[in-house]
Amino acid sequence: MVSEGQYFEAKEHPEIRQLFLNRIYFDSRELKKYVRELLYIESNVQGLSMFVDVNYFSKLYIPRIRQNILVLPYAFSEKASKNLDDFLSVLIDHELFHAKRLFEQPWNFKPSTGLEEYLAYKNQVDNFLQRNCSPEVQETTKIALYFLSRLTSTSSQLLPNF
Ligand SMILES: [Zn+2]
Repeated sequence: MVSEGQYFEAKEHPEIRQLFLNRIYFDSRELKKYVRELLYIESNVQGLSMFVDVNYFSKLYIPRIRQNILVLPYAFSEKASKNLDDFLSVLIDHELFHAKRLFEQPWNFKPSTGLEEYLAYKNQVDNFLQRNCSPEVQETTKIALYFLSRLTSTSSQLLPNF
């Protein structure tokens, strides 16, 4: 498993971030099962830390397709993650969760309803007990979950797919 030190090294040095992601990937049986590639991309979209690049075949509801997860510089920013568990909370408990759902039941993956985001954020919050996330990240995740729960309960309002 990657260490806190390796996380801070990657945070400090963008050039080793792909290597850092490779280490996480090769250590995780679940990532290998549900994710084809874990890629670092130099794209500075503010507020976007990582996302599943939904596979073409998954959009056709074909199951057992592995996704690519793209990680942006923002994921390593102080705002997005203050420690390793903040980072892993998003990568494993959120993005991998999306990838797993797409692998198992792509026909239920409907980003526009907000339900997938709700479930992914809920999975993050449910896993906080087993993680050492910063209070700030726990707070913003819980707020996001709260708003998503309001949206999904009120219906099919469109949500940005993040
Ligand atoms: Zn998401």
